[in-house]
Amino acid sequence: MVVNVNEDITRRRLEELLNNYDCCKCEKCMGDMMAIVLNNLKPAYVNTNKGILFKRVNSMLPQSATDLDIEILKAITLVSANPKH
Ligand SMILES: [Zn+2]
Repeated sequence: MVVNVNEDITRRRLEELLNNYDCCKCEKCMGDMMAIVLNNLKPAYVNTNKGILFKRVNSMLPQSATDLDIEILKAITLVSANPKH
């Protein structure tokens, strides 16, 4: 089975960053934010049969963590300015 590890990383980081924002955190808004971020990121698909933990650690190298934060902050701004819930 193949999964996009960015999905897991993005969800956790989004929840962390949202703690700093006084915006809507309902399922719909968070789903919209996730979709925007994941569409803007390069997918990181891995075969779950091998080394998913290794890949996860690699994906959190400082540079990609910064890029991820930037994409997440853009998504938070976009969705909270125009919530669809
Ligand atoms: Zn909402």
